[in-house]
Amino acid sequence: MRNDIHIYVGPDASDQLIRFCQDRKLNTLMLVADENTYAAAGQALETKLKAAGIDAKMSLLTGEEIIATERYFVQVMLDAGRYKRTFVAVGSGSITDITRFVSYFTHSDFISYPTAASVDGFTGAGAPSVIVGFKKTVMCHSPLGVFGDLDVLSAAPQEMTASGFGDMLGKYVALADWRLGELLWNEPRDETISQRVKVATDRCIARIDEIGQASPEGIQALMDGLIESGLGMLAANSSRPASGTEHQVSHHLEMKLLQENRPAVLHGIKVGAASIIAAGYYEKVRQLDQREVSQKLEIAEQPTREQYLQEIKTAYPGIEEKVLAEQEQFISLSGSAYQDLKQRVIDNWAEIQDIATSVPSPQQMSNWLRQAGGVTNLAALGFSDEEIDEALTYSHLLRNRFNVNKLWHLFGIDLA
Ligand SMILES: [Zn+2]
Repeated sequence: MRNDIHIYVGPDASDQLIRFCQDRKLNTLMLVADENTYAAAGQALETKLKAAGIDAKMSLLTGEEIIATERYFVQVMLDAGRYKRTFVAVGSGSITDITRFVSYFTHSDFISYPTAASVDGFTGAGAPSVIVGFKKTVMCHSPLGVFGDLDVLSAAPQEMTASGFGDMLGKYVALADWRLGELLWNEPRDETISQRVKVATDRCIARIDEIGQASPEGIQALMDGLIESGLGMLAANSSRPASGTEHQVSHHLEMKLLQENRPAVLHGIKVGAASIIAAGYYEKVRQLDQREVSQKLEIAEQPTREQYLQEIKTAYPGIEEKVLAEQEQFISLSGSAYQDLKQRVIDNWAEIQDIATSVPSPQQMSNWLRQAGGVTNLAALGFSDEEIDEALTYSHLLRNRFNVNKLWHLFGIDLA
């Protein structure tokens, strides 16, 4: 795991990248781009690198939709040949993931040259990939450096910027969920990392007008936030600081689209819309007093193993084993441990409500998201009511984490 990633976000990032390569004697590069990112930045970068005397080959990915899957892994490997090269991902989400994957498995390094502030995964080590039809995050490595050019990033389609903002907005939920996980499920939590991600998120909110206008100041704040979030995950060695209920819901829907061969929806666009639902859950938590919660918990019955199995089979055919393994600790809670957990919720209700106050209201979150050009409800992204319902009902099963949605599914505290 690297934690000395060279980060530059500003004007003339290509000059910075060239200097970085020259200083480290990285003279043989393999650029990876698609047709859009080649036009937006790849071609100019390639020309500059060659002019600087650097051997830069280009792997140009084509196709309707570029996703991190075998087809593209193999193409980039073949384009690179057997010479040792340093890869440069010229693009955002998928191109970075493809490049991260191939560079890792060919014992090479890579550099990230993002073309949109659309996602917080640039600095991370995991490559979310689709392998034999299933989505999984393959642990690879983080880049040697990230070079974000403000002119390039500001010129990206606003939808991409809104996606990055949606991914950041989700941190309010993710950070609250992390506190909940520590309080109720003994999950390890790091306050310093938590604070870093919180500050980065607040800074994006402070620049919401500029982000909506894609001004250099706004894009700089957003990009800084996304990078900080990525570094937070790297420091925690987990996605926990940056991913909670909202990412589970988004992940569920993403798998649905994949399985049914439907067009992808940008990661942060889904996350942003799901964040508003999760913010609604926290709003509900703020409204319930301890007496009401005690009454609800008194009649709550522990879900049986059969119930879990049935739900997992219904919601996640094909990956039942994996989901089951994630949930095993919840499924195998003894009767008395379940009662203890109930008591813990009641005893700590004031603290849980305090956690809930750290999440802005869904109305506030919607306003911000709209300002950034995002979409505030999942139905507008083409999901049916039934699909949304399923995502909200089952996605808590995807991780062994105590997120706010567990209060609902484990104890029947209706948050919808
Ligand atoms: Zn994300």
